This record gives sequence, structure tokens and C-alpha cells, in this order.
Amino acid sequence: MSQEARQSIRQRLHAERGTILKEAGQTCIRFALAYPNTYFVGMSNLGMQTMYRVLNQRPDTVCERVFLPAAEEWGWYAAGRTPLLSLEAQRPLGDFDLLGFSVSYENDYLHLLQMLELAHMPLLAAERDERYPLVLVGGAVTYINPEPLADFVDLMVIGDGEEAIQDYLDLVHDTLGQPRQEHLRLAAQLPGLYVPALHTQSAETTPIAPRKITELAQWPAYSSVLTDDTEFSGTLLVEITRGCPFKCRFCTVGYVYPKFRQLPGKLVLELVEAQQRRDQAAGLQPVGKVGLISSATGDYRDLALVAQGLVDLGVAIGISSLRMDRMPEVLIDCMVRSGVRSCTVAPEAGSERLRQLIRKEMTEDVILAGVDMLLAKGMRDLKLYSMLGLPTETEADLRELVALIFKIWDLMKKYGRARGALGTLTVSVNPFVPKPATPLQWCAMAPAHIVKARLQALRQALRHESHIRLKHENLKHDYLEAILARGDRRLRDFLLETHRQRGDWPRAARRLGFDAEAFVCTELSQQAGLPWDFLASERQMQRLHREHDRALALPIVAAS
Ligand code: SF4
Repeated sequence: MSQEARQSIRQRLHAERGTILKEAGQTCIRFALAYPNTYFVGMSNLGMQTMYRVLNQRPDTVCERVFLPAAEEWGWYAAGRTPLLSLEAQRPLGDFDLLGFSVSYENDYLHLLQMLELAHMPLLAAERDERYPLVLVGGAVTYINPEPLADFVDLMVIGDGEEAIQDYLDLVHDTLGQPRQEHLRLAAQLPGLYVPALHTQSAETTPIAPRKITELAQWPAYSSVLTDDTEFSGTLLVEITRGCPFKCRFCTVGYVYPKFRQLPGKLVLELVEAQQRRDQAAGLQPVGKVGLISSATGDYRDLALVAQGLVDLGVAIGISSLRMDRMPEVLIDCMVRSGVRSCTVAPEAGSERLRQLIRKEMTEDVILAGVDMLLAKGMRDLKLYSMLGLPTETEADLRELVALIFKIWDLMKKYGRARGALGTLTVSVNPFVPKPATPLQWCAMAPAHIVKARLQALRQALRHESHIRLKHENLKHDYLEAILARGDRRLRDFLLETHRQRGDWPRAARRLGFDAEAFVCTELSQQAGLPWDFLASERQMQRLHREHDRALALPIVAAS
């Protein structure tokens, strides 16, 4: 590796707070914790941040991070001689015992393949022998549908990983040096451990119950390493809840996580104070912002305590998004007092009919009252999330979305003019992707030509308002997400070919004769088994069917 590259890695480490540097003793397990995206993206991922700390807390384990090179770093590896290196000790990945990927998004599967290649490792698990580290996957995708990755990895940790990985590392410690097949056979007997090569799918397949931790306080999830070189720069992220008490029918969070769990507010404040003390001891400016990570911030029981406590500690408060029917005034007040002026709201659909279908049941009055409250308290900019192409969506639903955007914008203009400065309304729209393990998993995704036409209609409708910004992902990205979400092991060739075609999946699909659009735009039979069914209990399956039928029983004709 070039001197320039080593220098760059050292500079990156130098700019961090909280890097863990451990010596790997003879009997230590060497664990490379990989995030299949760039450093900038990965360092804002709480799963990655938490596992880094959890793994390094074990005296018998040394965990070092590794990321996908950013565009400007690819040249370092281009000649193919330098394998991908870990950050902390700049060690080739092949020198580790375990290479564990924390995977949150389907579109990162291709990055995982790229990282294996950059590490000079065969992509397929069947082609790797004892000379290579075992490849593990954990993270959000394992709760939902891990099957497209089945042929590429040796093991998966299904569900909450904090305790499952301890059991697995105990096994690694006890069986280090044993033949790989024997080791995998033993690993498959641990709860929540999935060894795809030993698992055949059939009607008799025993479900694998995802692991869950009951008390978040035992394994609090928060940033271990702070850096400015990441999306949430200089922000201490703390997960205040896991799971969601709501059951929106398109969303995996409400269905795959067994229970809504909450971190005690006192502990949240202790974590922030501890970080501030570490900063002061190191002669640094104390952390200035805390990001509260939750799917249901408004339902967090210690919200008032935490919001007030953070204001007293002098930190700004960030949150992911708010439900409009759960607008905790105390939080908004504290956010504004801490200097925050923008907020994200997610009605997810423009018409009340579609909001009922997805079970995000809130009336337009509730949404507008929520927006009014945010603006009255001093928020200036808003971001609004909505989907396009939901099942049974018609153009009338789209017109209702446009009308809702303008009603919100009218409110923003009223407050903006009184203040003497207009804010910005960012409308972020994405196509509906039928996600496994949700009641809408059987539904078809809208074909690309329909989504494009609706996006164009939306663009037209908003074109005269310079303070309203329309944002959406590249559609190719959304359809790839849908393919990988719905796929099974037969996607192996598609992933390999897309990897060969440097991510150009439409080209890969054409070469393989794979009709990708039909794959995601066709409704699935409720009678046929689905590749990810083995992760669900009978009770969960019944609930998905019931909720699906209720959703689709709603009338299709929308208000004109
Ligand atoms: S969309 Fe939000 S509120 Fe609804 S289930 Fe998902 S996380 Fe919960």
C-alpha cells in the first residue's frame, strides 16, 4: 500500500475520539468488523458503532474496523496488489480469524462483494477454506430476509447481535483450530446463529427465532467513536428505544422487532455526561450534539427528563423523525432552545385513504395541527417523507399529496413572513418497496413507468415554488433494493453478474435473461411459501395475513 494511503488512514484515526487500540495476544480472536459502505456512511451507523465497543470489551477479542474505500481511495487498491486493510493496525483482512459485516441495507450487498474481492478472498463461501477468515453477517437485514447473501457468507447472527455474538465468540475461543465444517456444525446449534450451508428450506424447516435482548440498559447502543468525517459529524448517537409500538403495514420495524424497548432516561444522560468528561480530560471541546435514535420518539417514556437534561448539559438535540399524532411539546421546546430549526415528519402518503391502508392513520387535520405547532414553536425548515406507488394508489391520491404539500407550505409561508424569512420545505418521495416480514410483502411494486410519471406530475405541480425542494433517490437504486429484499438464494448469479458489471444491474439482468421488473412488480401468492418464512413464528405469519387482508379490503376509489 502506498505511503500516501497509510498517511491518509493515520490522519483519519488522528481525527477520531474514542478509537480503541488493542494488542492482539497469541490467543486473541482477531475480528475485522466491516461496514459495507464508506467510512463517511458507516461511522454514522449505530449498529457498527455498538458492535465495535461490545467486541472490544471482551478481553479475548481484538476488533478493528474496515470500510469500503471511497471513490478517491480506489486508486490505492487498483493495481490489485494491496489487499483491503483494517483501520486500527492496517492489517490485511486475510490475517483475521473472523470477518463480520454489519449490514443494514440491501443495496450494500454489492459492496460486501466488492470488499471480499478487495480483501483478495473468494466471493463464494464454498470456495473459501481454512486459509481465509470465516465471514459473518449481522445487522438489520438478518431480521428480514438474509437469503440473497446465503451463498456468500459462512454464518449469520439473526436478530439482536449483542448477546448472540458473545455465545458465538465463546465457541470460537473453545474451538479455535478445529476443522471449519465441524466448527460450523457446532455454531448452527447456537440460538440465533444461522449457517446457510447447513440449512435446507422446506415446509418442515424449523424456524430460526431471531435473538432479542430484553433490557436495552444491559447493552446500550451509542457512538463509540466520534469524528467530523461522517454524516452525523461530532454527534453522539444514542438509541433510546428499539422496536416500535405502531404497526404500519409497509414497515419492518413494527413487525420484526418483538417488543418496544426503552433505555432509561437516567442512563441516556449518564452516557452523554461520560462523553463530555472524556472530552474535557482530553482537552477537547465537549460533544455539542446528541442524536436520539428511535422509531417512536414521541412514545419514549423518559422524553421530558432526557430533553431537559440535554438542554442543561448544553447540547443540541437531534431526532430522526416525528409522528404527527405524537408531537411532544417538551421535546420541540428543548430542541428549539438548543438551536435546532429543522424537523422531519413522515405522513408517508398524501391521502387519508392510503394512510389507512398502510395503517399510518392520521387525518389531514392532525398533520396540519402538528406542523402548525412545530412552526409556532420556532422550527423553520421541514422535511416531509412520502411514498409513491403504494398498492391501489390512483392519480386522485397523488392530487391529495400535492394538496397536502401546499397546505403545509401555506402554513410555512404564514410563519415565515411573520419572521421575515421563508423556510424550506423538502419533500422526499420514494417508491413503495414491498418489504419481507410486513403485511404488504405480497404486494407488487409499481412499475417504473408509473413511478416516473407520478414523479414528473409532482415535479410539475411544485415547479413554481422555489422554497419547496423535491428529492428522490435514483429509481434504479429503489428497484435494486426491491429485487434484493424479495430475493432468495437464486439471486446469487444476479449478484455475481452485477458485481462483474460494476453495479450496472439492468445490464446484468439482461445478460442473465432475468426479468427484474416482473420479479418485483408481480403480486405474490399468499398460499405459496416465501424465502424468509423460516424466520417467522406461526403467530407472526397469521398476523401478517390478517393485516394484509384488512389493508386490501379498503375501498380503492379515492376522493376526486
Ligand atoms: S413507519 Fe415508523 S411509526 Fe410506523 S411502524 Fe415503522 S417505525 Fe413505527
